[in-house]
Amino acid sequence: MKENNSMTTGIRRQRNVKIVATLGPASDTKEMIRELFLAGADVFRLNMSHGSHAEITLRHAIIRELEAELGRPIGILADLQGPKLRCGVFANGSEMLAVGAPFRFDLDKTPGDAHRVNLPHTEIFKALKPGSTLLVNDGKIALKVTACGDGYADTEVVVGGEISNRKGVNVPDVVLPLAALSEKDRADLEFVCALGVDWLALSFVQRASDVLEARALAKGRAHIISKIEKPAAVDAFEEILAVTDGVMVARGDLGVELPVQAVPPIQKRLIMACRRVGKPVIVATQMMESMISSPVPTRAEVSDVAQAIYEGADAVMLSAESAAGDYPVEAVTTMSNVAVEVEKDEMYRDGLLASHTPSRTGVADAISAAAREVAETTDIKVIASFTQSGTTAMLAARERPRVPIIAITPVPATARRLALVWGLHCVVSGEVTRFKEAVVNAVKAAKNAGFAKENDMIVVTAGVPFNTPGTTNILRVAPVNEKLIYGSELD
Ligand code: ATP
Ligand code: MG
Ligand code: MG
Repeated sequence: MKENNSMTTGIRRQRNVKIVATLGPASDTKEMIRELFLAGADVFRLNMSHGSHAEITLRHAIIRELEAELGRPIGILADLQGPKLRCGVFANGSEMLAVGAPFRFDLDKTPGDAHRVNLPHTEIFKALKPGSTLLVNDGKIALKVTACGDGYADTEVVVGGEISNRKGVNVPDVVLPLAALSEKDRADLEFVCALGVDWLALSFVQRASDVLEARALAKGRAHIISKIEKPAAVDAFEEILAVTDGVMVARGDLGVELPVQAVPPIQKRLIMACRRVGKPVIVATQMMESMISSPVPTRAEVSDVAQAIYEGADAVMLSAESAAGDYPVEAVTTMSNVAVEVEKDEMYRDGLLASHTPSRTGVADAISAAAREVAETTDIKVIASFTQSGTTAMLAARERPRVPIIAITPVPATARRLALVWGLHCVVSGEVTRFKEAVVNAVKAAKNAGFAKENDMIVVTAGVPFNTPGTTNILRVAPVNEKLIYGSELD
C-alpha cells in the first residue's frame, strides 16, 4: 500500500461492524478474494490448521496486491491451530460414518478409510477409557470408546455424519495436559510474523501467561487475539483481557467444551467486557453455516448475526462458509446486508447506549468521549482521529458514535490492524508535523470517502506534538471548505 493511495479512493463501507472472512480452497484465487473484499470482507483469516506454508504465502501475496490495487488497507489475521486435537487425512478426503458402525483411531499415518483414521496424539490414547466420548467437527459427530490401548481406540458411532481431513476432535470428559503452543504453532508463528500479518489469533488460550508467551515470540510484529473456547479461559477472562489486544468468541469449541446453552450469555459478557476496555472482539463460528451449501441463510442464522451486531461486537466472522463453501461471496453479502439493516434500527443505537460502560481514566479517553458528545450534539458529519499506534482510534470506536470515524495514520500496519475495529474507516496519510496539516488531511479524507461535503463540519482529534504515542490532547471542530485547505487561517 503506497502512502496517500487510500486518500484517493472512495471505497467505504455502509456499516460499522466489520466482517472477517476465512480463506480456503473455495476462495484462493485473486478474483475471488477481490470479490469477497468488494462484497464486504474487511479482514481475511488464514487458518494455520489447514493450508500449507506455500498456500498461505500465496494468499498473503494476493491480499497485499489487491490492497495496493484497491487503495484500501486490508487486515490479515493468522489463526494458530493451538493444542487442538485433530484427526489425520482420508484417502478419499472424507467418509460417512453411520450410527452403530465401528471406527478406530490410531497412530498409523496412512490415510484413513471408512474403518479407521490417524489421531496423532499419544496423550489421548493414554487418557481414554472404555465409555469415553469423542466429538468430531465442533461436536457434530459423536463416538463412544468401546476398547482402547497403547496407540489406538476402538469406538462405536453414536451420532453419525461426514468426517473429513483434519477435523477437530474433542474429548470433553477427559482433562488433557496441553501446552499453550505446540512445536507447529511456534514454527507457524515465526513464519506468519516474518510474512507480515496484522493479527495473530491464539487457539485454546487457558491463562494470561499463554498470551504473554505468544507475545514474547511475536516481538511486536503482530497483535494478539485470544480465542476464548475453553472453560478455563472463561474463568480467567479478566486476566486474559488485561494482556491481550483483542478477543474472539470462538463458539465452535466453546459449545463443545461447555453446554451449548452456556454460549450466548458468555458471548454477551465477553463483548461487554471488551467494549468496556476498547479492545476489538470478534464473534465467530457457524454464523451462516447453512450457506456452506445454500445461497440463502436460515432465519436463525440471520438473527444470530444480527444479535452479535446489536450487542456491539467489532466483527462477525465466516469460517467454512467463505473457506470451503459453495457460496462465499453470497455469505459475505448476506452478512453485510444484515449489518446495514440492523444499524439503521433505532433500537440498535439505544442498545449500544444502554450497554456503554467504558472505564475512562485518562485525557485521551476524555477527548474521545468529548468528540462523540460534540458530534452527536451538533450537526457534525465525521470524527477524524489521528493515530500512530491505533490506540486513539480504538478509543474513538469504543464510544460507538452515531457518526462515522476516519482513522488517519502514517503507519500502514496500523491502518491494516484497525480494519478489524468497529466503525473505523482507515486512511494512510503522510507524516504530519503541524496540526493545521492534520486538519487539512482530515478534511480531504472526509471528502474523498464521501463522509462530508463542502461547508459541512467535522471533528478532528490528534496528539500534539505529533509522532509521540499516547498524547491525544486536541479536539477541533473544523469546517470543510476550500479556503481552509488552501488558505492559511488555521495554524
Ligand atoms: P478452527 O477451530 O481454528 O476454527 P476449523 O477446522 O473449524 O478450525 P475453520 O477455519 O473454522 O476451521 O473452517 C471450517 C472448515 O472449512 C474446516 O474444518 C475445513 O473443512 C474447511 N477449511 C477451512 N480452511 C481451509 C483450508 N485452507 N483448506 C482446506 N479446508 C479448509
Ligand atoms: Mg476453534
Ligand atoms: Mg472453526
